[in-house]
Amino acid sequence: MIGTEKFESQSGEEPDSESERLLTELKFGLLSCGLRIGEDARHLMEFAKKPIRTRSGTSGGLDVELPYSVFVNAPVAETSGAYSLGVSNGQFVIVDHNGTSFPARLLRAPEYYADKTLDACEDMVRVGQMCSPDRFCYGMTGATCSLWAADDRCRFCSIGLNYQADASSSKTKYLMQVLRRAVNDASHPAKHVLLGGGTPLGDDMGACLASELTRQIKQEFDISIYVMICAPLRNEYIDQLYDSGVDELGMNVEFWSQQAWETYIPGKHRRIGKQRYLKALEHAVMRFGRINTRSIIIAGLEPLDNTLEGIKFFASMGVMPIISPFRPLRGTELEHHPTLSVGQYLQLYEAATNVCAPYDIPLGPTCVGCQNNTLAMPFGSHYHTYFVQPRNEGQTEPYYRQPARKSSADLAGPAN
Ligand code: SF4
Repeated sequence: MIGTEKFESQSGEEPDSESERLLTELKFGLLSCGLRIGEDARHLMEFAKKPIRTRSGTSGGLDVELPYSVFVNAPVAETSGAYSLGVSNGQFVIVDHNGTSFPARLLRAPEYYADKTLDACEDMVRVGQMCSPDRFCYGMTGATCSLWAADDRCRFCSIGLNYQADASSSKTKYLMQVLRRAVNDASHPAKHVLLGGGTPLGDDMGACLASELTRQIKQEFDISIYVMICAPLRNEYIDQLYDSGVDELGMNVEFWSQQAWETYIPGKHRRIGKQRYLKALEHAVMRFGRINTRSIIIAGLEPLDNTLEGIKFFASMGVMPIISPFRPLRGTELEHHPTLSVGQYLQLYEAATNVCAPYDIPLGPTCVGCQNNTLAMPFGSHYHTYFVQPRNEGQTEPYYRQPARKSSADLAGPAN
């Protein structure tokens, strides 16, 4: 039980450097190798938030909390077996390939996942999902994307395979009732909102709908809203998002090299192009500010030197880079493509941290719970958790605060 002993400390403290190293290795190991669920653990998972198909791309694994508010969405469909989830003394543990056990907790399934919309026509879980402990995700297009045609689709993406699991884009009428339930959930209430999904037709890439939904949500909740869309073809759409009250804007380049753009995201390459992304990000930094403008870059499909070059470029612009480890999703063209090793992730993480430091830009996301599928760790002054404020016209305070750290002692009991 070396891992457990290493993590014992007081709540509220940051871990010492050795604990941080172990946690980083464990988290990146889980992202690289996945998590096998042991039989004893399976019996105790009744209340846990299990993988759902509709979030298969971004957070389709099992949500696990490790000590010190380290969250990881561990792939369970794509696993090498190097890590397994078991039970020891009535608590969940993760056992690594050396037999070392680490304390863990599984997140509870939100209460609304079991319910229907008020008209009893739709499962609430198909309308909006919790993709981290505190982020409510709404896919604006349902399981569709205008770039899903075979020649255009992003090669790692599985959105079009989710027809059964995801409600159609006409579900907008249900958004507020599901969000109300999510915000009031007893164990993991929604504290911020992501509006994303596939890419609709039109030069705005979904910005107009996102602006409309943001206005609607902000009429009822003072809650932080993060919009993630492809780069709109004109800056006026970015202004529109800002004016509607959107707090954070993500436009994901995915790759840095020309070759990777042509190979892995051919539709985005032809319809938008990397240069337009960079112009849009530059404009977004002027409107939304540094760090509130972010871009995901995928690690594991192009040479890491290219990935690192992109990360440095973003940091120099004030854009927060988010490193998303490539996940070979079942049913996609890349389902048999290998992932990077833990060692490669650690190397990239260290190098990326170093290139961002001179610009005082953290590796994103800054929300500790939403780091669950990224190469990021929640330690340092940039990282926080969100909270929903009482309705207050003229909101000026930030929506976030520093997290209360939990040591392994706080992770008592399975799935609580
Ligand atoms: S733009 Fe690409 S990654 Fe996004 S939903 Fe469409 S195909 Fe998938």
